[in-house]
Amino acid sequence: MVTDRKDILALDYGGTKLSAALCGYGRKEWKARERCFSQKGASAHNNQEVMLQMAHRLVESSGADLAAVGISFGGPVHFPTGMIRLSHHVPGWEDIPLRDELAEEFGVPAVVDNDANVAAFGEWSRGAGQYSSSMLYMTISTGIGGGWVLGGQIFRGADGMAGEIGHTIVNPGGAVCSCGKKGCLEAESCGPAIARKALARLTREPDASPILLEKAEGDPAGITAAMIAEAAEENDELSILLLREAASYVGSGLAMAINLINPERIVLGGGVSKSGGVFWKTLQQTTEYFILPQMQADIRPAALGDDAPLWGAVAMAEKLLSQ
Ligand SMILES: [Zn+2]
Repeated sequence: MVTDRKDILALDYGGTKLSAALCGYGRKEWKARERCFSQKGASAHNNQEVMLQMAHRLVESSGADLAAVGISFGGPVHFPTGMIRLSHHVPGWEDIPLRDELAEEFGVPAVVDNDANVAAFGEWSRGAGQYSSSMLYMTISTGIGGGWVLGGQIFRGADGMAGEIGHTIVNPGGAVCSCGKKGCLEAESCGPAIARKALARLTREPDASPILLEKAEGDPAGITAAMIAEAAEENDELSILLLREAASYVGSGLAMAINLINPERIVLGGGVSKSGGVFWKTLQQTTEYFILPQMQADIRPAALGDDAPLWGAVAMAEKLLSQ
């Protein structure tokens, strides 16, 4: 597809916020961007109305000459048809033909995929995965997601579900996961899982961590993974133990993925990945312990933060235009 138009519109339908941004083709800085928090109880219809207003405002105020729209969506997407299967956060997205709706709205080609794949592509094209021939992106926050970029392409698998590293079993019979299985990596190592383990320990043993209790103002149910990371930096024994456990499960999951595909690079993002030295050292050691000795584990922190899905949306749109 040849185009002499210059601008890409990137849209990110996240769990808690909606973001829109404009970028010149091939550029690495935003021309304009806007975001807003999704209102509690909002429907797909509300979200779409807000997103369209935001996007039109951006395009008009900056006089953009749109060439394509790239879209990141927080839920499973049927990539070949550009249909949303459902949203994990907002009701009413079932079977919405989002790609075609946006292509019609803006009169240019559009492309949509789920946020883990799109963020992976963002990190590969402009972040910590640049110049790698094969890359696994993994994000650890309220859940654990992942995406593969192999040979410069998002690898989606037969059902568009490739990269679901959060649902590999790292502790058979362990904690119950959102998918219904027990011992998935997500159920053992995502932020809420780490916090839940702190709560369980402090319920049994209220003296186990005065530092954590103080951070949560005396209520163990208010402990978050971020507080545990902070307390670990202050040498709190329980927090260090919890982070080591979570990181060793992450290392086991990563090692399975590395042994199967032997990727050149792993990029790790999400709030829990910022848990500090204890977390990184343990996950590096565990990964190296479980992979074959002929393999390398080049694990790097994500570079684009919350912008990874937007940059990935730009890169997908650029790819669409270059085909
Ligand atoms: Zn699971």
